[in-house]
Amino acid sequence: MGQIIDGKFVAETMKSAIALEVSELIQSGKRPPHLVAILVGNNGASETYVANKVKSCEELGFISTLLRFPPTISEKELLEEVLKINHNAEMDGLIVQLPLPDHINPDRIMETIDPRKDVDGFHPINIGRMAKGLPAYISATPQGVLDLLAYYKIETAGKHCVVVGRSQIVGLPMSILMQRNHPIGNCTVTLTHSKTKNLVEICQQADILIAALGKPEFLNASYVKKGAVIIDVGLTRVVDESKKSGFALKGDVDFDDVFEKCSYITPVPKGVGPMTIVSLMKNTLLAAKGVIYS
Ligand code: NAP
Repeated sequence: MGQIIDGKFVAETMKSAIALEVSELIQSGKRPPHLVAILVGNNGASETYVANKVKSCEELGFISTLLRFPPTISEKELLEEVLKINHNAEMDGLIVQLPLPDHINPDRIMETIDPRKDVDGFHPINIGRMAKGLPAYISATPQGVLDLLAYYKIETAGKHCVVVGRSQIVGLPMSILMQRNHPIGNCTVTLTHSKTKNLVEICQQADILIAALGKPEFLNASYVKKGAVIIDVGLTRVVDESKKSGFALKGDVDFDDVFEKCSYITPVPKGVGPMTIVSLMKNTLLAAKGVIYS
């Protein structure tokens, strides 16, 4: 039977530690960490994500600045805004909420953010440094997964880790991190995607199975080896008339089906989700302290 990995609890514990560090910074005469978020247009989900990030800043004693721009802003104008923040020494971290309108190239925007302020860890320099094992901002969700594995003292060295999904923000960095020569790493990693053949057989070999494909309850017990550790990154809203809100949040794993078979499992919600925002806060604190690029 699986032990539930309580992401909400771990996230709260980490938040308290961050808040304490912030109060120590202030006591030593420094200003609090300052996170800037850029929001373009009025995508409902993006509004919610950014509002949650601003709320977390408030809870932890950070300064936050939300810069909103209309969907008609040109790419050139947005690049100029990014450059202004790059040059503002009072601003430590910058995130640009995705998706951006179609006329704006997100890669061009990400590559313009100063890597020292790229607390989302999306800049190629941070991805490259992460791959080389150098200090880097690591994107929030994979970092959150590492922190969960560390908190529960889950052995990773020598294990076979199968990652399902190869996105730039989750699957790909996750696979790089799990193979690194690092206390939470040293796995033999298989990275799978929508063109992978024999996905069931590959997943059945996983000691650690990380699901990040965005297909609700896709991975059932037939994909899982007995005793495997299951990390479910998936988060999809599905219609559920029984809920007051009219929807439920589902992971990529069929929790009820796999629960008896696995050794550890992250639930959805309250698993990986709460860790993501904490990782962003952690990166912003690191940016304020200037430790990654010291
Ligand atoms: P994404 O960009 O849509 O990538 C999905 C990946 O899954 C792609 O690499 C795709 O393969 C692969 N895939 C799709 N169907 C597959 C299948 N049947 N078999 C094997 N691989 C398949 O998604 P994402 O941004 O990584 O997000 C993944 C999930 O995590 C979503 O539910 C998202 O909401 C959630 N998420 C949660 C958090 C959090 O804080 N908890 C943060 C980020 C994302 P191809 O590359 O071949 O298309």
